[in-house]
Formats: sequence, structure tokens, C-alpha cells
Amino acid sequence: MPFELLFPRSLEEAWTLLEQGAPGSSMAMAGGTDLLLAMDFRRFAPERVVSLARLPLDTVEFGEKEVRIGSTVPLRTIELDPRVRKALPALSEALAEVGSVQLRHRATLGGNVVRASASSDLLPPLVAMDCRLTISSRKGRRSLPLDEFVEGSWRTKLQPGELVEDLRIPSPLPGAYRWQRVRPANDISQVGVAVVRQPPHDGSSAPDWRIVAGGTSPRVQRLRGSESALLSPWPSEEEIAEAAKRAAQEARFATDLRAAEEYRRKLLEALVRSGIESTLERLREGGGR
Ligand SMILES: Cc1cc2nc3c(=O)[nH]c(=O)nc-3n(C[C@H](O)[C@H](O)[C@H](O)COP(=O)(O)OP(=O)(O)OC[C@H]3O[C@@H](n4cnc5c(N)ncnc54)[C@H](O)[C@@H]3O)c2cc1C
Repeated sequence: MPFELLFPRSLEEAWTLLEQGAPGSSMAMAGGTDLLLAMDFRRFAPERVVSLARLPLDTVEFGEKEVRIGSTVPLRTIELDPRVRKALPALSEALAEVGSVQLRHRATLGGNVVRASASSDLLPPLVAMDCRLTISSRKGRRSLPLDEFVEGSWRTKLQPGELVEDLRIPSPLPGAYRWQRVRPANDISQVGVAVVRQPPHDGSSAPDWRIVAGGTSPRVQRLRGSESALLSPWPSEEEIAEAAKRAAQEARFATDLRAAEEYRRKLLEALVRSGIESTLERLREGGGR
């Protein structure tokens, strides 16, 4: 299907273009690694493709308490940023596993979260780190937790005319990302797990562990039962084993061409254990990887 490719130079211009026509007739494009394939497969047939390439959304800024990553920063740029590697090891580790180096030069974080794939490697660490999105349109700006934003594969709370401007992540946050796939590159994870140790919340003195699984079901899953087995900043071997066991029990699993449910369950248990152990090791070494 023919379509118009447009290159707005300001956010105002982009918002105006994205509002044009019936819902779905104008679509944003960042790296195009998902969108162009989906158009090729006739999943979408927009009349207007609005490239975000010339918008000022391509910087990574470190504040005192959070990192702000523009939605169109290529994954490779974030992956190679030593500040990200040190402050957000779970994200850094997941980034290095996406597709191939070639793909990561084009693909963006904004595109990955709007695609909202069940097997995204980036959603688990971002959700585990309590990432928030800044979403904007001609009507204004709003901020939404990523965990609320994602509803399912290709389904999010993004409204027609809106775009994701940036992702805001509290920093620093020790953690790890563990995954399993058949081939090391250009393959999709059968299971991916992010483990993050958050500082204490709500007046508590205990740290707040986050364990989030991807690849197991249509939507990324926070495993609260598993988290609640980790009672102290330095969990014992028994607590770690219990957290891994509970993760495998509570997660919902799918069987598809990539793996059977029973295999995914076993993988998840092993990956949760490994993720917690790595996080603790990093904390002992003083953070970062
Ligand atoms: C060969 C291959 C291997 C892959 N391997 C992996 C992998 O291992 N792990 C993994 O997680 N992913 C993988 N992917 C998926 C892909 O790389 C990511 O989803 C990518 O990050 C998408 O980013 P993009 O900039 O290319 O998005 P695009 O294709 O440009 O856009 C994707 C969707 O997001 C919308 N969009 C993009 N940016 C914005 C914005 N700022 N605001 C609003 N809407 C927006 C578009 O309209 C479209 O609907 C793979 C893809 C391919 C083709």
C-alpha cells in the first residue's frame, strides 16, 4: 500500500501530523525495525508514516535521582554508555542481547515499549526499575508507569495523536537480566527475567526486590510471590531457592513454537536464582557490572 513518509522537525509538527485522519492512518516511526515489517505483513496500512528521526528526543541525561532516556536514542548508544552500564546493569545486560549489533543501531527504546512484545528483552528490566513514560500530544503531556502502559502484544495505553517522548528510570539500581534462547543472536528469548534491588519504599527499612519475567505469557509479569520470599537485603541461600521456586509456581506460561510450558517453568526457576545471585555479587563488588 502506498503511504506518505513525513519528517517533522518539531514536536508540534509531529503531534499535528499524528492526529490526522482516522485512528491508525498516521503512525509514528522511530527505527522502523518493527513497524516496516508489520506493514510488510499487512498488519498495519497507515496512509502517513511520521518519522521521529529529526525530533529532539535523542539524548540520555543523568539527573541526581533518575536517568531520562529520549525515546529515539538507538539501543546501541544506550548499551555503550558507561554511565548506564554502571548505574543500570539489568538494562545494560538486556540491551546487549537484543537482535544483533546492526539492529541495535536502528532500533529504539521507545519503539520497543510501544511494540510491547511479549518476548521483549527490555520490558522486564524497565518494569522492574519502575520506569515511567512521558507521553505527549497537542492536548498536553502525561506521565505513566510502564507497567500500566503495556496491555499486551502491540496493545498499549497510547492514544491516537500521542507519542512517547522519553523514559525515566530511577538511578542507580543494582540488578541483573538473565535469559535463555536457542541461538545467541537474532533470536527471541524463551524466557527473560530481570531482578532489581530497589531501595526501601513506604517507610520500610527492608529493600524492595523486583522480579519481572518476560517471554512466558502475552504480557510481562511481575512475580510478587517470588519477591516476597526475599526478606532481607542479603537473602540466604534458602530464601533465594524459595524465591526461584515461587517464581516457577506463580508465573503464567504459554506453550508455543519456541518452548513448552514445562521447559519454560524450569528455565524461569534457574534464571531467577541466577539473577538474584548476580545482583548480590554486584552489590558486594560495589554495584555496576
Ligand atoms: C531481526 C530482529 C530481531 C529482534 N530481536 C529482538 C530481541 O532479541 N529482543 C527484543 O526485545 N526485541 C527484538 N526485536 C524487536 C525490535 O528490535 C524492537 O522492538 C525495537 O526496539 C523497535 O524499535 P524501533 O525504533 O525500530 O520501532 P519502530 O519499528 O519504529 O516502531 C515500533 C512501534 O512503535 C511505535 N513507535 C515507535 N516509537 C514511538 C514513539 N516514540 N512514540 C510513539 N510510538 C512510537 C511505532 O508507531 C510502531 O507501532 C527484533 C527485531 C528484529 C527485526
